[in-house]
Amino acid sequence: MTPQEILRQTRQLIEEHAAGDPDNWWYANRFVFARLQLDERKTKTSIKRELFDANKPCHYCGKPFETKYNVHLHRLDQTKGYNKDNCALMHAECHQQCHSESKIKEIAVIEEKEAILVKRSKKHDELSFFYWWDISPSCADSLDKFDMVEFVKNDSGERCIVPPADLKGFLTEDRQTSRSKGPWGVKVLKDHKDELAFEPGTGKTGKYLFLPVIWINEQED
Ligand SMILES: [Zn+2]
Repeated sequence: MTPQEILRQTRQLIEEHAAGDPDNWWYANRFVFARLQLDERKTKTSIKRELFDANKPCHYCGKPFETKYNVHLHRLDQTKGYNKDNCALMHAECHQQCHSESKIKEIAVIEEKEAILVKRSKKHDELSFFYWWDISPSCADSLDKFDMVEFVKNDSGERCIVPPADLKGFLTEDRQTSRSKGPWGVKVLKDHKDELAFEPGTGKTGKYLFLPVIWINEQED
């Protein structure tokens, strides 16, 4: 069975269990989600302990760790998972620094038919916004190839997931900006932290449109 098939069947089982009751659906969906996430965390914890016990210094600054607290696990190859060979330890601050320096702004992960477009943004400290992702016209054209689009905050590792269909509703011609290739601008405004804000672009209304999102954090502690 492929991972895609497992996901499809799991969704179907949750639908059946819920039998049209949104509360039952929410509880079952959250239960499965949280337990699977916990399984992943257990793997991370054992790798972390092993690396820590080997007395390796911080992979970023080279200094040893003074305590077990505020030590993060970092994947060396971000397209690969958590295993001992692909992981290193970093001070929490070093880990944040390392991710905020990351030059990669967009990566596409296509594995086993589960296709994720990952958009990354460093933290800005402008007057009105914290994060800013551009969606180029060619990127917008390729959205149908993906099952989901993930917007990532490089500094904190927080991410939100948006179905391409939801995103496309906001990418209308009048909201394209006049910047070089006419991308759409997506931001997190300081006074709208739990929403993606779509720039007005050249549109006449001059108003942002908002899409509520849930930020999840996969970083270790
Ligand atoms: Zn360090």
